[in-house]
Amino acid sequence: MRVGIVGGGAAGLMAAATILETAPQAELFLIERNEGLGKKVIISGGGRCNVTTGIQDVRTVLTKYPRGGKFLSKAMYHFPPGEVYAWFESHGVPLKVENDLRVFPESNNGRDIVGVFENVFATSNVHVLLNHAVETIQKVGDVFELQFRNGDKLEVDVVVLTTGGQAYRQTGSVGDGYAFASSLGHTITKLAPSLNAFYTRELWTAVISGLSFQKAEIRARAHNPSKSPLLRGETSDGRTPSRSTTGERAGVGYSFTGPFIFTHKGVSGPAVFALSAQVAFEEYDPKTPLSIEIDLFPDESTEEVAQRIEKLISTVGKKSFLNVVAMVVPKSLAEIVLFELNINGSLHSAEIGKKDVLRCVAWFKGIPLTVVGRGSGDEFVTAGGVELSEVDPKTMESTICPGLYFGGEVLDIDGYTGGFNLQASWATGRLAGESIAAR
Ligand SMILES: Cc1cc2nc3c(=O)[nH]c(=O)nc-3n(C[C@H](O)[C@H](O)[C@H](O)COP(=O)(O)OP(=O)(O)OC[C@H]3O[C@@H](n4cnc5c(N)ncnc54)[C@H](O)[C@@H]3O)c2cc1C
Repeated sequence: MRVGIVGGGAAGLMAAATILETAPQAELFLIERNEGLGKKVIISGGGRCNVTTGIQDVRTVLTKYPRGGKFLSKAMYHFPPGEVYAWFESHGVPLKVENDLRVFPESNNGRDIVGVFENVFATSNVHVLLNHAVETIQKVGDVFELQFRNGDKLEVDVVVLTTGGQAYRQTGSVGDGYAFASSLGHTITKLAPSLNAFYTRELWTAVISGLSFQKAEIRARAHNPSKSPLLRGETSDGRTPSRSTTGERAGVGYSFTGPFIFTHKGVSGPAVFALSAQVAFEEYDPKTPLSIEIDLFPDESTEEVAQRIEKLISTVGKKSFLNVVAMVVPKSLAEIVLFELNINGSLHSAEIGKKDVLRCVAWFKGIPLTVVGRGSGDEFVTAGGVELSEVDPKTMESTICPGLYFGGEVLDIDGYTGGFNLQASWATGRLAGESIAAR
């Protein structure tokens, strides 16, 4: 059996290693358009490679995929995060789980992850074809004909399509796989960037750029709630939010609770990325902006925050109101809220009326921001891809074109930040590899 794996990223590397482990008699071609393997894996996680998640419960892991979680179930139970962890360690790369449950190599070097595969391939009978961009794939009878851009051709019995999405195109993932899948009869769902920062109309975020919060609830209002499949609240640690966000505020739509950071152009960080995934298919631009609200105190009610400030005022009434507010939030943000609400912060706090205290609290419980765009080309993943109903979740084989398998981001699967996208690629690549070995 001759197998051609198109794309030497996370899913392709794992599919190849799995076939070598389980079907060493197969003649394997790992085809990569770049001069090296796993370019995106190497730069992932800021170069440290957040290789998987420390969350062990597979059911919880599956909730981290705005699209594709159900389809992923089989692959994920088959090769869950704990086994991915053990696999890399058994191949010589010690890993560590950080406090936020992200898993990295102890060396903090994504190259070590790709190095595992390079070592496996160096001692195996696999043809690694670097600098080979596939141009077309055709099926003629039972054989797949791969045409390369350099004019070469290759015939194989089985193809694994692991060409990735089209985010960070400079890494080689330029979306070619969508055209290949389509030419072989597959449907490609609508594509959209996901896991991106938000650019806001409000310019004041630049003043406090770099200011971060460990826990905030960020909410967005769907432009068209009836078309939005993801109307729910979530938290970055997988727990149910302390309050039902959808229940309490009819029409709000999306929400996520986790860390975020103010930036020169708006907001970013894990909670923002997660929300961007939820709203991936909402159109938002300067003409049709997306309204979001940030609750800096998601575990306290409005009344509780107000009481906290009033108690401070009653004990340090001679302090300026600015200094009292600065005991509740960082001073730079205190200055902004007072400016935005036109409250004179230099007054003694005892001189400030309850109404103004409540206005500040309302602001902290729902900082209003107008999202006018996202960093073009800065997104981490592509939402959408090969239609999942046309792929067998038990094998990753196409139900339309026998002998064609898929793995990774080319599928209509995307996850939040935290190691979930690589985990999906390892799991689907592994399952595709094992299914091919069982042919
Ligand atoms: C900056 C950044 C940081 C990220 N950090 C993380 C992280 O820390 N943790 C995490 O879980 N996820 C992270 N992700 C997402 C994760 O890297 C991807 O989801 C994952 O790499 C997808 O794996 P894949 O195998 O499907 O595709 P890719 O890893 O993108 O690999 C696809 C490969 O196919 C090759 N290819 C494409 N077309 C052709 C062709 N025509 N011929 C031959 N070869 C071709 C490409 O060159 C590429 O090497 C990050 C993404 C980005 C952009």
